[in-house]
Amino acid sequence: MPSSRPTSVVTGGAGFLGSHLTDRLLAEGHRVIGIDNFLTGNVANIEHLAGNENYKFIKHDVSNYIFLPDDVDYIFHFASPASPIDYLEHPIPTLKVGSLGTHNALGLAKAKKATFLLASTSECYGDPLVHPQREDYWGNVNPIGPRGVYDEAKRFAEAMTMAYHRFHQVDTKIVRIFNTYGPRMRLRDGRVVPAFIGQALRGEPLTIFGDGSQTRSFCYCSDLIDGIFKLSQSDFHEPVNIGNPREMTIKQFAEEIIRITGAKSEIDFRPLPVDDPKVRQPDITRAKNVLHWEPRVDFDEGIRKTIDYFRTRLD
Ligand code: NAD
Ligand code: UDP
Repeated sequence: MPSSRPTSVVTGGAGFLGSHLTDRLLAEGHRVIGIDNFLTGNVANIEHLAGNENYKFIKHDVSNYIFLPDDVDYIFHFASPASPIDYLEHPIPTLKVGSLGTHNALGLAKAKKATFLLASTSECYGDPLVHPQREDYWGNVNPIGPRGVYDEAKRFAEAMTMAYHRFHQVDTKIVRIFNTYGPRMRLRDGRVVPAFIGQALRGEPLTIFGDGSQTRSFCYCSDLIDGIFKLSQSDFHEPVNIGNPREMTIKQFAEEIIRITGAKSEIDFRPLPVDDPKVRQPDITRAKNVLHWEPRVDFDEGIRKTIDYFRTRLD
């Protein structure tokens, strides 16, 4: 690979967000080294990069020691199961990649004198008692509930990241990502966006968990990646929320999907999963002030692009 460009490592590089981030970094003139063990990722997300002289892929589980001879300028640590179905199916790999994987990625950043960016999550706020969520809220997480494997792994990852910043002076950043959607999500990853779109396109009932009064705020992937790239170029070390503050109930979301797809689907109410957060909405004041970032893609536009993608993936 040519070496005059900055080099970025993306762990979880074959996943939904890792692959979009890779495309953005390549467009910004970086060389990119993707690392992924395909636990929840998909080779289809990166096959368009085959033959790109600025891209290299390494199949590796980052919970094990990462050996990399290359010089590295940035490490984006995105490896982790992210959908509730995935992390409930892989609880121990989720805990390991958030803890051991983050430790290994930070160790690599320290050895290479690279900037480190952690993909953290709004799940750090748990079932929040403060609404909307600001970065100075410490959260309401059940450590021993089924979701604890993800939430606590990410909270540990944030603590480890700040320790490497304070104790080893590593240049670190932390993004708390709120529900993000778009092409390259797995149709059956269980998250509400692919679940409802898949059900609507197949003419099946939409499965609402609980009474559908719980809220989420959905951000289109290109907006999120833009915020993350800006954060990587900043000198800000505290966590930054990146998400779209447009909040809706899951019932409203189901109705929007039925409207936009024109489906005849009905609603099938199912039990609410344990510890499912009742509300979620990012306060993005910090991102606006520090990064001069705010989302630009409107809900209808983002959802239509996502529906078009899923139409091509229906089985
Ligand atoms: P994803 O499942 O599509 O991508 C995660 C990738 O990490 C997959 O390719 C998977 O194979 C890989 N991976 C998992 N464990 C690994 C390991 N031990 N070693 C190497 N690779 C490993 O999920 P995503 O939505 O792209 O999420 C990416 C990151 O963003 C995750 O860290 C997630 O916690 C975070 N995040 C995502 C959202 C969202 O709405 N999409 C919200 C909050 C946080
Ligand atoms: N949800 C739902 N039906 C589904 C999948 C999810 O009603 O088929 C609900 C889920 O209980 C949660 C919200 O949609 O309240 C968002 O779920 P998702 O798994 O996308 O992510 P979360 O925000 O919970 O991490």
